[in-house]
Amino acid sequence: MIVVLKPGLTQEEIHKVVERIESFGLRAHLSEGKERTIIGAIGDERLLADQTLESFPGVEKVLPILKPYKLVSREFQRANTIIEVNGHKIGGKKIHVMAGPCSVESKNQVLESAVPVKEAGATFLRGGAFKPRTSPYSFQGLGEEGLSYLAHAREVTGLPIITEVLDPRDLDVVYRYTDILQIGARNMQNFKLLTEVGKLNKPVMLKRGMSATIQEFLLSAEYIASEGNRKIILCERGIRTYETETRNTLDLSAVPILKQLSHLPVFVDPSHGTGRWDLVPPMALAGIAAGADGLLIEVHSHPELALSDGPQSLKPDKFAALMKDLKKVAEALGREI
Ligand code: PEP
Ligand code: MN
Repeated sequence: MIVVLKPGLTQEEIHKVVERIESFGLRAHLSEGKERTIIGAIGDERLLADQTLESFPGVEKVLPILKPYKLVSREFQRANTIIEVNGHKIGGKKIHVMAGPCSVESKNQVLESAVPVKEAGATFLRGGAFKPRTSPYSFQGLGEEGLSYLAHAREVTGLPIITEVLDPRDLDVVYRYTDILQIGARNMQNFKLLTEVGKLNKPVMLKRGMSATIQEFLLSAEYIASEGNRKIILCERGIRTYETETRNTLDLSAVPILKQLSHLPVFVDPSHGTGRWDLVPPMALAGIAAGADGLLIEVHSHPELALSDGPQSLKPDKFAALMKDLKKVAEALGREI
């Protein structure tokens, strides 16, 4: 980082700043100009919280050079991360579509989505057994019973499953059933949960918080990576804006930005991103066109009866039609689906 000092400091005041920098194991390279002195702090500046230096009376400005996240950054690893799950490679040429109901409601209801999405070409089955609901009076999910229905659908269809873990206390049970752990938007900054999944050897999909910046999103991924688990999928699922036509504003520019800044696979969730089933196909196509490695899409056989997110759920026939269009876009981009 570059530390710009205020004009007119004494040698002793400059020395205090240098001492502080060196106390973090960094080298301080002094450059004394006619009007200003600047210090180049050389080494891993992440060790040095910039606020500490900015509160020194002689320091005018601190300009970080490195990104605050490391392990998940493209600077750290140039090649794309490819995550292997049950023989599927996520983050490579093939685009993966994870589809299924918002919530697991019954054994049959899961199958009514799982069978047709598999037929249409989805490679993973999604479904929530532990649901993060805005209202405490809304359906909260079936818990372990729901996980067993997902496992049953996996047996029937062969589709690996992805499901959300809400709380570190549920981690054991969710871990036993699922192939990919999902951390939802509301938990993107649940640092205890991130730390716990970081200790596991199971892929994690981390969804962007609804008011998280891209930097905050990547720092949350860094929490997981820094504990050892590097199998992380990032998922853009829309952010809160002033727009009311949609449930969220799907930030598609996040896709190429995340691909530039990070080596991790990036997915798009057009269902939560829009809150409207009619907008899911165009935004799914746009997500792939923007460079996403996969999609998370809600599908329900009877959206009008769904216990959560019916208005944004595609019926199986609409999903199958979307898969055909996605194939064309994927092929045009030199990818597969
Ligand atoms: C979900 O995928 O079921 C979900 C609750 O999404 P989000 O965390 O993005 O709201
Ligand atoms: Mn949902």
